[in-house]
Amino acid sequence: MNEKTTLSSISPSDFIPFTRPSFDEATIAAVAAVMQSGWVTSGPKVAEFEAELSHYFGGRPVRCFANGTATMKIALQIAGIGAGDEVITTPLSWVATANVILSVGAKPVFVDIDPHTRNLDLKLIAAAITPQTRAIMPVYLAGLPVNMDELYAIAKSHQLRVIEDAAQAFGSQWVGKRIGSIGDLVSFSFQANKNLTTVEGGCLVLNHAHETALAEKLRLQGLTRYGPDGMDVDVLGGKDNLTDINAVIGLHQLKNLPTFQARRVAIVKLYFELLKAGLNTSALKGFDLQLPPENFTDTNWHLFQVLLPLQQLQVERAQIMSELKALGIGTGVHYPIITNFTLYRKLGYLAESTPVAEVIGRSILTLPLFPAMSDADVKRICAAFLQVLEGQRKA
Ligand SMILES: *Cc1c(COP(=O)(O)O)cnc(C)c1O
Repeated sequence: MNEKTTLSSISPSDFIPFTRPSFDEATIAAVAAVMQSGWVTSGPKVAEFEAELSHYFGGRPVRCFANGTATMKIALQIAGIGAGDEVITTPLSWVATANVILSVGAKPVFVDIDPHTRNLDLKLIAAAITPQTRAIMPVYLAGLPVNMDELYAIAKSHQLRVIEDAAQAFGSQWVGKRIGSIGDLVSFSFQANKNLTTVEGGCLVLNHAHETALAEKLRLQGLTRYGPDGMDVDVLGGKDNLTDINAVIGLHQLKNLPTFQARRVAIVKLYFELLKAGLNTSALKGFDLQLPPENFTDTNWHLFQVLLPLQQLQVERAQIMSELKALGIGTGVHYPIITNFTLYRKLGYLAESTPVAEVIGRSILTLPLFPAMSDADVKRICAAFLQVLEGQRKA
């Protein structure tokens, strides 16, 4: 097929991005109302959002922040993690996960992943623990949690804190319990791509009043106010507060979340049906495309990610993505592994030390998934994707 002809035949409105947030008219009106209220930064809407989130997480204290990165950094500070400390995490994550560990002066220790879940391989954690290890930072890629019983058993037996990077896992569960309703420090992101968005934002679920008070200080310059005119600063804090404009978006997203979630599940079921049927045709027999774990109890289906069988393709992932783009389909990579970035290589990390993650980082591909997608969109994506794979399959 001639790529130029294909491109010109697709109008911009037919392009399906890999994700797109859903905002209804009520959300837009609520944002306008906050703007007209005279108070736009952190105020009553943040307090209301935090109260709703606390209720959602079974009554645990929740504090909001400007983004998920600030949320995780503050969680590390609350846990007292700093210079000389080691934090165990996965190399297959958004770079923020490791960057926040470096930013508090600690050392990320990368453990390989499970090829099926694509999350930290919990069996490998014990061997990575040293006298300097202070915490484990698991990441719930695409919203799929790790085995929480095993995770917390390891943490308990080695007296480690757990800072859950649940950025992608809002609405996910573990054996019927919401992620965030159990565990140690649980960090979520409300960035625009996430299942629940405030455009930018994040929240931390805590357990203790003194740690909650510290979270409030750390997000605003270390400040404590007292009396009608008193203020004090006793720790170094940053400027990481959420605004009421963001919070009011979050309040509406929280209300819409069950509808969003039902639509995500329906889309994913259609993906499985169409991709499995396509892989069963004679043209793709024996083609080892890996679909995500077929989980309909725990994950919130933040992303639908496949693993390309690179050894069966005559091109790399980038070419597959370009051909899909020419057919009006956006895809993403979540993620290239962190240890391959220049900063991390300069620090001495080696991609080869986590061989499973190394391969998955090169072969993982995110297909479009967002609540506003139609069944016709999913059909078009699957047909195009299977056609591109067939065209590039090695003879
Ligand atoms: C989105 C994300 C973050 C960072 O959140 P921001 O709100 O963008 O700062 C961290 N970790 C993971 C796994 C994420 O997906």
